[in-house]
Amino acid sequence: SEFVKEEFSRGTLRTKTVEDILTPLKDCFMLPSSAVLDFSTMSEIMQCGYTRVPIYEEERSNIVEILYVKDLALVDPDDCTPMTTITKFYNHPLHFVFNDTKLDAMLEEFKKGNSHMAIVQKVNNEGEGDPFYEVLGLVTLEDVIEEIIKSEILDE
Ligand code: ADP
Repeated sequence: SEFVKEEFSRGTLRTKTVEDILTPLKDCFMLPSSAVLDFSTMSEIMQCGYTRVPIYEEERSNIVEILYVKDLALVDPDDCTPMTTITKFYNHPLHFVFNDTKLDAMLEEFKKGNSHMAIVQKVNNEGEGDPFYEVLGLVTLEDVIEEIIKSEILDE
């Protein structure tokens, strides 16, 4: 019945976490903040097919900014504009969530906020050293919606 179906997908949203559905860091299309928006970089961004590109400093695990592909609309590749000029100008907020965030909470966050992407991090306290934040990947509204649809189809 509709009721059972609805409860089922609510169950999924209550129990599954962002860690279960994220796009792993190694598969993320990202660019370094040192990049220059020349013809080659701009082509690469256009061809990646994503709407948003996380920008990292030094290491891929150190995401500091987010570029929206539409920010490039007025950029002339001949100017070789530094990436940071654009990211500092638009300054889109970057959202971090913990790996154990449940999908219902994530959905609420996405509904409230103006960004539909979050960087997933966990507290890594394995090993000898001090605990540190480890970036696992990214999650978008699309990933949550896909999970809801999947659970509804499985239930048919
Ligand atoms: P887009 O609008 O770029 O298509 P969506 O929010 O619709 O992005 O997400 C589609 C899928 O692509 C999701 O699984 C999401 O995790 C993934 N995704 C989004 N941006 C990137 C990126 N820069 N690199 C790798 N995967 C991404």
